[in-house]
Amino acid sequence: MASPIDAAGWRFDNSYARLPAGLHTRTTPVPVRSPKIVILNAPLATTLGLDAEAIGGPDGAGVCAGNTLPPVADPIAQAYAGHQYGHFTNLGDGRAILLGEQIAPDGRRCDIQLKGAGRTRYSRGGDGRAALGPMLREYLISEAMHALGIPTTRSLAVTMTGEAVFREEVLAGAVLVRVAASHIRVGTFEYAAAVADPSLLPALLAHAIGRHDPGLADAPEPAIAFLEAVIDRQAELVARWMHVGFVHGVMNTDNAAVSGETIDYGPCAFLDAYHPATVFSSIDRQGRYAYGNQPAITHWNLARLAESLLPAVPGEEPVALERIREVLATFPARYDRHALAGWRAKLGLFTMDDADQTLVSSLLTAMAEIRADFTDTFAALAGAAVSAAPPPPFDTGPLAVWLVAWRARLGRQSQSLAEVSARMRRTNPLVIPRNHRVEEALAAAAVGEMAPFERLLDAVTHPFDDAEETGPYRHGPPAGCGPYRTFCGT
Ligand code: AMP
Ligand code: MG
Repeated sequence: MASPIDAAGWRFDNSYARLPAGLHTRTTPVPVRSPKIVILNAPLATTLGLDAEAIGGPDGAGVCAGNTLPPVADPIAQAYAGHQYGHFTNLGDGRAILLGEQIAPDGRRCDIQLKGAGRTRYSRGGDGRAALGPMLREYLISEAMHALGIPTTRSLAVTMTGEAVFREEVLAGAVLVRVAASHIRVGTFEYAAAVADPSLLPALLAHAIGRHDPGLADAPEPAIAFLEAVIDRQAELVARWMHVGFVHGVMNTDNAAVSGETIDYGPCAFLDAYHPATVFSSIDRQGRYAYGNQPAITHWNLARLAESLLPAVPGEEPVALERIREVLATFPARYDRHALAGWRAKLGLFTMDDADQTLVSSLLTAMAEIRADFTDTFAALAGAAVSAAPPPPFDTGPLAVWLVAWRARLGRQSQSLAEVSARMRRTNPLVIPRNHRVEEALAAAAVGEMAPFERLLDAVTHPFDDAEETGPYRHGPPAGCGPYRTFCGT
């Protein structure tokens, strides 16, 4: 039962906190010196049933920083494990605290989590804190992903703490209010399957099904049906990343949500020049999480979920294992289906042709050959549908050759070129968070200048608008910038 609504609009029902104690630890955020909200997502607040003015005021800042709790909160740190770069580790919320689950006016249930709220039982050597730059980066990129139509956790606010955090340098501390369908990860199931208490896994599974797949509660084999649902969501999610050139950067199993939302914006970045081997994260030296590896890594992560669910599948183990294997084996075909559907939309194709996959692959190969800008190339192609002379980069070289095949393919469907172009403009963004622009905005924010961040946020949250104001945010870095590097910056 949800609590009554308080003055700011908080209305919680803390179902995760009611799960067995092994899955979490009651933890109060550690108060900070002087909370000051630097960015607030008023439209999201309204969607959640919150009074944006109250949240943006002094009392709201206290809540967003963890200094005061909404009366209905039941704060916990969640336990989870995870495979990090292929190695199993016990983790848990080392610097995040779940305040509770907001019941929005439309009935949706959303986790309200403070990231950077102080030490928890799971902090290990960490300080439990977060720096302003990485929290603003998560805010910006998660909101850009949402505007691109890609499932993601959302960002409600970033609040400066008035305290310093010590990394390689001294940085301003901040807390992010993260909003998610849930924070249940593949790693949460790995944790539940690994602990001695056999009651945790069924409890977690029933909870996750109730939350994300209520229709499966009465399925003959709920664990199998749930696995299948997560596989499909993750297959679609990673396909959506591929379609916009998003590189998550740290696809450990603790950073894979069973809800199918993109979660944990650490070293992520968008491609400028296209090459499938692109890696941005400075610590990903083997390229495990390179752009082109993301579908295979998703499959690998889902295999960890499948193993964890094995004890929850009825029947003798060999039979259960066989059922799990069968479902897991559906990943590649599911991925291919979601991926091809999205590529077709990006190419303005309304019909299906056996040669479409080849058409897509040959485009990507040609783009890699000339290191074409990923976003600009698809945006140019939308224009090429209706222009007589091919625009760059389709005017010469391998892309000019490819264009002839594409135009022939367009001729084999009945839709007009105007319809083709319109579909492509709805599908291919003009604006993504360009790495050099993100860095520029974060550098300004670090010295107290938020205007560049706000302008960039406005542009990336209108990715398909052909508005003049977004012009400066549209293209890649000037030549000679060198490769972009991200750091796990916490
Ligand atoms: P991430 O790379 O952000 O997914 O974090 C991996 C693990 O490290 C999670 O268990 C986090 O809670 C934990 N962690 C990250 N930063 C900190 C920090 N500053 N203090 C404590 N734990 C942290
Ligand atoms: Mg994480």
